Amino acid sequence: MTATTPQRSAAAAPAGAKNKPKRELPPLTYGRKGNIEIFFLWVFVLAPWVALTAGLYLTRNTAWAMNWTQAALFLAFYVFTGLGITVGFHRYLTHGAFKAKRPLKIMLTLAGTMAVEGAPIRWVADHRRHHQFSDEEFDPHSPWRFGHSVKGLAKGLVWAHTGWLFTRENTNSRRFAPDLIADPDIRWFQKNFVYVLLFTLLLPTALGGLLTWSWQGAVAAYIWAGLVRIALVHHVTWSVNSVCHVFGERPFTTSDKASNVWWLAILSFGESWHNLHHADPTSARHGVDKGQIDSSARLIWLFEKAGWATNVRWPKASRLDAKRVEKQSVAA
Ligand SMILES: [Zn+2]
Ligand SMILES: [Zn+2]
Repeated sequence: MTATTPQRSAAAAPAGAKNKPKRELPPLTYGRKGNIEIFFLWVFVLAPWVALTAGLYLTRNTAWAMNWTQAALFLAFYVFTGLGITVGFHRYLTHGAFKAKRPLKIMLTLAGTMAVEGAPIRWVADHRRHHQFSDEEFDPHSPWRFGHSVKGLAKGLVWAHTGWLFTRENTNSRRFAPDLIADPDIRWFQKNFVYVLLFTLLLPTALGGLLTWSWQGAVAAYIWAGLVRIALVHHVTWSVNSVCHVFGERPFTTSDKASNVWWLAILSFGESWHNLHHADPTSARHGVDKGQIDSSARLIWLFEKAGWATNVRWPKASRLDAKRVEKQSVAA
C-alpha cells in the first residue's frame, strides 16, 4: 500500500487517448509480504544448496547414485518446468506472443507454476513492471539500481539475481495483470499454488521410487529432480535478470541495458537473447539471427503446427532491421 503512482511511458496509453482526461493508474505496489512468506523465500533460496550437498554426499554410496534414471528424471522436470516459465509465463502470459487453446493454456500455466517462481499473476505483474521501467527507478530488479561504479554494480548484480525477491512491497497485479485476474483458469493456479508446490516435489519422488523400486531411489529423485532441479531453473531465470542486463552484446536499440548472452542460450531455452526481447517484447522468437538457438520458439512452432497455438507473432525482417544498431548508425 503505497501512494507511489508513477505514470511513465506514453506508449502504455491507448491510441486516441490524447484528448481524454488522464485516468489515474492504480498504485505501483499493493500489500506487503508477511514474515511467513519471507521465511519460505529464504527456505527456497537456501534449501537447494543443502540438497545439493546432501545429493553429492549420498552419491558416494552407489545405492543413492545419480544414475541414468535419476539423470533422466532431472532432465525431464528441468525441461518441462523451464519451458513452462519461458513459453508459458513469459512469452504467452506476460507478452501475448501467441494465443493458446484452453488445454494448452492450462498445461503451460501448470508447467510454469511447477517451477516454483511464484504464482502466475504475481510473476507476470513483476515482469510487466520490469519492461515498463526497465533499468530505471521503478524496475523491480535492475542490476543498475546502485549506480555504475564497480561496487554499485556488484551489489546490483546480487540484487537483480536474488535480493529483489525479498522486497516487502508486492507489485500491484490490478495495475499490471488485470487480464489474468479476470481469467478463472489462471486464478485457480494463483489460489492453489501450495498444492502445485507439493505436486512438483512429490511427483519426481514417486516416479524415482517406482522406477527404481527402492526408497533410496525416491529420496535421490526428491533431491535431484525435485530440489536441485528447481534451484537450477531459478538461477537460470534469475541470470536473465542479472547477467543479461550487464554483460553481452546489444545489436538492437533499446532504452535499457538488456543484452544477448550466447552461453546461456541452451540452459535458458533461448531467453538469453534478451537484447532482442527488450527491442521487440511480443516476438515469439528471441534468437532471431543465424545460429541463435531458441528452443522455446521451436516449441511454439510445434504448438502452431499442431493447431494448439494461433496468432503467433513471428519476427518480421523489416521490423528487426529498423531496430538494428548498425543500420541506424549507417542511416545517421
Ligand atoms: Zn529484462
Ligand atoms: Zn519479457
